[in-house]
This record gives sequence, C-alpha cells and structure tokens, in this order.
Amino acid sequence: KVKIYARSEHTISRAQISDNALKVLYRLQKEGFEAYLVGGCVRDLLLGREPKDFDVVTNADPEQVRKVFRNCRIIGRRFRLAHVHFGREVIEVATFRGDGTAQNDAQVLNQEGRVLRDNVYGTIEEDVWRRDFTVNALYYNIKDFSVADYVQGMEDHRNGILRLIGEPSTRFREDPVRMLRAVRFAVKLGFKLHPDCQQALHGAAALLSSIPAARLYDEVLKLFLYGYALQTFEMLRHYGLFQVLFPDTERSLADQDNDFPRMLLVRALQNSDNRIADGKTVTAYFLFAALLWEPVRLSALQKMREGQVEYMAYQDAANEVIARQVRYTAMPRHISLAIREVWALQPKFTTRVGSKPSRLLLHPRFRASFDFLLLRAETGGVDAELAQWWQAYQNADENEQRKMTQPSR
Ligand code: ATP
Ligand code: MG
Repeated sequence: KVKIYARSEHTISRAQISDNALKVLYRLQKEGFEAYLVGGCVRDLLLGREPKDFDVVTNADPEQVRKVFRNCRIIGRRFRLAHVHFGREVIEVATFRGDGTAQNDAQVLNQEGRVLRDNVYGTIEEDVWRRDFTVNALYYNIKDFSVADYVQGMEDHRNGILRLIGEPSTRFREDPVRMLRAVRFAVKLGFKLHPDCQQALHGAAALLSSIPAARLYDEVLKLFLYGYALQTFEMLRHYGLFQVLFPDTERSLADQDNDFPRMLLVRALQNSDNRIADGKTVTAYFLFAALLWEPVRLSALQKMREGQVEYMAYQDAANEVIARQVRYTAMPRHISLAIREVWALQPKFTTRVGSKPSRLLLHPRFRASFDFLLLRAETGGVDAELAQWWQAYQNADENEQRKMTQPSR
C-alpha cells in the first residue's frame, strides 16, 4: 500500500533543504537509524516554496537522539521530542509515533473523543495515521532521496486537495484544532478542502470550545500573522469558526455585513497582508487591537448613551472586551497591555495645540497608534484631515512643528 517515489519521480532536491536539517538527517543515518523529513516542509518543498521549518522523524527514541547530538534538548510532555539547536535554527526530531490503539493503552481520550495524551513510539506505518492531512504525511527518506507515501498524498498534492487521513469528523473530534489547520492550509497553499472535509466542518465549530485558550491564541497568530489574514478571516466565518474565536467581534459584524469593505477589521487584515508581502512585520497586539476595536467602540457608545463620559466609557469598554476575549484566546499580559495602549492613545490625537503633540510623538506606542488612527481614518471612523495633520506633523522639522501646534487666534 505504500508508494515510493524515487528521486527521479519528484522535484525535491537537497539544495532546497537547510544545511542543518541535512546534517541531522545524515548523522542519524550514519548512526544506523532511519531518518526522514516529514510534514509541512515536504509539502512546501514539493510546491517549490521555502519551508518555515524542517521536521525530522526517526526510529531513534529521544534519548538515543540526544546521545547523537551535543546541541540537543528534549522537550514536550504529551509527546517527547528532541530539539537540535544550531544557533537560531532548531531542527525538531520526533520519534515515529505509535497508533495508540487500546491494546497498548497509552492513548487517553476524554468524553468527546479528544486525545489528551499519547506516548507510544511506533513505526513509520503507524506514524502516518496520527497526521492530519495526506499532503502533510509525505516522508522524504535521506537514505535514497525518495518520498514514501502511504495515503496517496502525492496525488492529492498534485491536485491541490486537502484530504484528512481517516474519517473526517472523527479526526476533528480527536483534535478540533485540525479545523483551524484545515482553513489555514487551504488558504496558504491555495488548495481545496476535500468535500468530505468541508462537510465535516459544517456545524462542528463548537468542538473548539474544549481547546485551552492558550493554544487557541497560538493558532490565531498562525492564522492571521503570515500573510493570508483576509482570506483566512472569510473562510473562518464561512465555517462558523470565527465566532468561536472572537464571539464579540462576530456579533459586532452582524449588522455591518452590508458595509464590508469599509470595515476597519477588513482593512487591517488587508494592510497586514500587504505589509508581509513587502517583507515587513506585523505585531500580534496590532492585529488584536483591530479585531476587537468594533466591540469596544459599540460598547463605549452604549455606555455613553447611559451617561458615562467618553474617556471612561472607552476605558471600561476596553477592559471588559479584553477580559471576555482572554477566555477564548488567552493572550500574554504584555500583549493585552499594548492593545489597551493603542486604544487609549486614540483620543489624544485630537489635541493639536500646545506641548501635547510633541509628547505624544515620543510615546513608545506612537507608531502603532498612528497606524491605527490611519485605519480609522480610511474607514470613516475619524476625520481624514486629522490623520493628514499628524502625518505632516511627523514629517515637519522642529520649527514647523512649533508653528503647527500654536493656538490660532
Ligand atoms: P507549517 O509549519 O507550515 O505551519 P506544518 O504542516 O509543518 O505546517 P506543524 O504544526 O509544523 O505544521 O506540524 C508538522 C506536522 O505534524 C504536520 O504536517 C502534521 O503531519 C503533523 N501535525 C501537526 N499538528 C497536527 C495535528 N493537530 N493533528 C495531526 N497532525 C498534526
Ligand atoms: Mg512545520
């Protein structure tokens, strides 16, 4: 049932593989172990793309791996892995994982059928079945540079199809994060979800609520910070997944769908995709500030209708929205602080006279806050003229800046 694609039958060349990953593979082989590249890197190499990282699997157990490499650390609780360090590059080396069938009693499921722990080592044939998609289960063998394919992943790869290994709804129940991975890979690779996978996704979003909020935060960053945020957002909404991650935001979107292109959130996602295309970076806190802005704004407006002053209304709304959001995607403290700062600086942009503008310019969060102001201006949330003034003010020399902030009489 395994199909072996010889070196001449696929396009992966060693020139595409990082030197450190090759070192690890060759070294394991030299010590008499099997060694393969597997997962996203093989999938990406077949597309001619540069992989984010290189994952190695072997029949050596983590202790044996450690004995082979000096620069090696063992990590992981649910499943132990070896990390081989080369300066900043880390090559992850995993041992083939067993199928965790009841007989060896090492896989623990909860009532919903989610895998809580699995600790058995196994063979490559078993390792295949714990992987999510067929295109993620291709093994590049360092011994003869062939690709081993147990699940017709090569064919799916050629056809641009994401197909779950095994029965889709079972695989989603075992680990609901696979639903987010399905969306992420479909968008990033430009692949189609297999119809069975699409069907299993419909109505399954609620499974995600059993996932720890810290893991969902990590997944959200992978979904939105790598250059495909807008399409990802749309596909997540299509399958009802977005509302599980950002329930307040989803609710705030409900009455705005007719004004889609003018939404700050959409513009922010588009901008961050553009930035990444230009080789710039985007930050998690800016993304979250944009994703949660509409709930904050609506909540603040409500509080103002109830008689609160603007400043307090926004501050309370910000605190409430963040307190609710961390139940779904637990963010680190420094992130939630930065989000609040970006929001808190927004009203300060309205002061254009005196010494306050020059002080605002020096605020460590000025740049991000100004970018946020631009977004609001582009989407009609604030006067475009205000944003232009601040743009001019930043570019002006000290003399002009002083003139700009003089009270007009
Ligand atoms: P990328 O690194 O480009 O985001 P990837 O496919 O390498 O994509 P990783 O999270 O690095 O994703 O995982 C490496 C491999 O481990 C996957 O290709 C897949 O075979 C397996 N894997 C990871 N997470 C899961 C999961 N939740 N369920 C099943 N298999 C998984
Ligand atoms: Mg990877």
